[in-house]
Amino acid sequence: MSEPRTVLVTGGNRGIGLAIARSFAEAGDRVVVTHRSGEPPEGLEGVRCDVTDAASVDAAFTEAEEKLGGPVEVLVANAGITKDGLLMRMSDEDWDAVLETNLTGAFRCVRRASKGMIRLRRGRIVLVSSVVGLYGGPGQANYAASKAGLVGLARSVTRELGGRGITANVVAPGFIETDMTAALPEDTQKTYKAAIPAGRFATPEEVAGVVRFLAGPDAAYVSGAVLPVDGGLGMGH
Ligand code: NAD
Repeated sequence: MSEPRTVLVTGGNRGIGLAIARSFAEAGDRVVVTHRSGEPPEGLEGVRCDVTDAASVDAAFTEAEEKLGGPVEVLVANAGITKDGLLMRMSDEDWDAVLETNLTGAFRCVRRASKGMIRLRRGRIVLVSSVVGLYGGPGQANYAASKAGLVGLARSVTRELGGRGITANVVAPGFIETDMTAALPEDTQKTYKAAIPAGRFATPEEVAGVVRFLAGPDAAYVSGAVLPVDGGLGMGH
């Protein structure tokens, strides 16, 4: 068994982030999740954080490091939102809100986490993007741009900090079984599933497994990579 590590998962109080946090905790790592409101999920330590606010991110990391007993060794930047709308009608506000949370929010967490990682001379950063960031999505220009931006962020971190024992990678989930996909009409779900070679949506735990791989010892020489977790949906693009 490897040494327990210190892990911070943003937006880890539900959905994919919760599955990721639980997966690290079950493997014996020390985990803090950030949540925007309410209580942290049962069995996990939580700190409040709004990634659209730089001071909130810095304060959350300081609080998390106290709870973890040291700097964050593994950062999973998972917090994300959508505000879909057709391009011609998309407001500046909806564009800005999505970029601010999904891309700038992740940048703020990476910037803060890298301080401790540079001191430790080791660190793992995993950014949760989306296949929409790789292939685009109608009605999702803001979301696609934000998620594509995470690839540039991870690759810049790789070039800048790769020599300090830090890796940065991107996972790009396709359709995942979450509240969002459960709310889709049954017919729509059927159509989507028919287009996925795997013939089904992924479980959040299947995304968590890939995140843990990228943060684990077997991926020590993997950095700047983009790993779709999409059942083959994006093949051929
Ligand atoms: P979700 O809505 O269940 O969870 C998103 C999390 O982000 C929540 O915990 C929320 O509180 C947090 N968050 C949102 N805005 C925040 C802010 N300003 N500050 C701090 N936290 C904030 O979503 P999910 O489906 O679990 O998705 C998790 C990630 O995976 C997102 O980045 C999403 O874009 C990505 N993703 C999801 C799917 C899917 O099918 N569900 C597919 C591809 C990518």
